[in-house]
Amino acid sequence: MSRRGLAALLAALPLLVFAAGAMAQWVPSGTLVKVLVVRDCDETGGDVAVSRLDPPTIYLCPRVVELVRKKDPGAEHFYLVHEYGHIALATASEAEADCWAARELAKARNGERYLNAAIRHFMHRPDQPSARYGSPRRRAERIRDCAAM
Ligand SMILES: [Zn+2]
Repeated sequence: MSRRGLAALLAALPLLVFAAGAMAQWVPSGTLVKVLVVRDCDETGGDVAVSRLDPPTIYLCPRVVELVRKKDPGAEHFYLVHEYGHIALATASEAEADCWAARELAKARNGERYLNAAIRHFMHRPDQPSARYGSPRRRAERIRDCAAM
C-alpha cells in the first residue's frame, strides 16, 4: 500500500469505527449463542421469522426482512430478538416473547433505536385484532411498557 493510501485509511478509521458503533445491534449471549439461524422462507410461511424449540432454531425470510427494513428501518431487528425470546423463555406466548425482546433491547447498546423502530412499525400497521399478538397498537404499547419507555 502506498503511503498516501495508508494515510487515507488511517484518516477514515475513526469514521469506520464510529459507523460500526452506531449500527451495533443486540447479540445473543449465554446459551442463546448456540441457537441456529437459518434463512428459509418456506419455514416462515410468509412471516419475517419463526422459531422452533427443539432443536432451538430461528428461521428468517430475507425477502420479508428486507420489506420490513425498507418501510421501518430497524424494526426487522425486533422480530429477530422476539424469536430469541420464544427460545429463551421456552414459550409460545407472543406477548411474553415481545416483552422479553423489549427488555433485552432496552438494556442493549442502540437498543432504543430498534425499540422506536418497532413501535413505529406496529403503530403504522392496520389496527386489526389478533388473538395471538393482540392488535398492532396493543403490541406497540406492550413494547413501550416492557421497555419502560
Ligand atoms: Zn412470536
